[in-house]
Amino acid sequence: MQKLLTPEEIAVQAGTEGATHRLPAADVFANRAARLEQLADGHAMGDFLRFAARLARAQDTLLRHRAPETRPADAHLARCRQHGMPPIGAFDTPLPADWVYVLQAIAFEVAPHAPASLQNAIADLPDFPRPRLDAIARDILRAEEHLANPLELALAPLLGATLQVLWTARARALQPADVPTGFEGGQCPCCGAVPVSSIVRIGDAGHGVRYATCSLCATEWHVTRIKCVPCQNTRGIAYQGLEGETGPAHPAVKAETCPECHSSLKLVSMEKDPLADAFADDLATLALDMLVDETGFHRAGRNLFLFMP
Ligand SMILES: [Zn+2]
Ligand SMILES: [Zn+2]
Repeated sequence: MQKLLTPEEIAVQAGTEGATHRLPAADVFANRAARLEQLADGHAMGDFLRFAARLARAQDTLLRHRAPETRPADAHLARCRQHGMPPIGAFDTPLPADWVYVLQAIAFEVAPHAPASLQNAIADLPDFPRPRLDAIARDILRAEEHLANPLELALAPLLGATLQVLWTARARALQPADVPTGFEGGQCPCCGAVPVSSIVRIGDAGHGVRYATCSLCATEWHVTRIKCVPCQNTRGIAYQGLEGETGPAHPAVKAETCPECHSSLKLVSMEKDPLADAFADDLATLALDMLVDETGFHRAGRNLFLFMP
């Protein structure tokens, strides 16, 4: 007969299980869109954030209408758990056959609201060589994109949004026990991508629990507070925030800087603002990235709505 657990033991088990990782919820893109709309009001980059909200709404529509993904084979999942490998790896999981359809559907949804440069790029999309689109998508998944011209640069956020929908759908097909546990690193345990930022949630016990949020599949994995996510260093960790004329300009977001690897990852706090979102609040605080860059720290988080030439 199975041993009965005391309420304390159940609480401890539930606590550990809940703290390890959180697979993406069905409304992940809808929440991002709502937060982006809220942050756009009165923001210096309001137009950009409103367009990002449109893109997130299109992602929400596509995710909701997409047929559920097939869960990977048991043997593959067991091998990944055994070796601590991501089961839906961004590097090695093939693009789905219909991925360009998802890209075109997102492009169609956002086209009327897009800036002129992107509207032109969307108009050219049907003639864009398919092998080159495949190559750019794979490069984005490897975080090694070399965007050849302004057209590719304009389309890159749409490709990023598309890949997020596809990998979030794949992560949602996983069960919590499928996700490799026991490592706390700078890469997502589901897909191996780097985080967009990290978020402090209010845990069951009422205190803050920190998670890194995947830039690709939106899975959140537990990371320790006051510890560099990319290199795991705990010494000399410091924080920078945006200052306005009358105090902190965006109090829910701080940049955590590490003197060992000279990187900076944002810490978005739901303790400070219950509506804060790892992805949306990252986009709304690009001024903070410039500030930390000036003090010698490079941005470790990756946001797939942002691409540099
Ligand atoms: Zn991921
Ligand atoms: Zn570090």
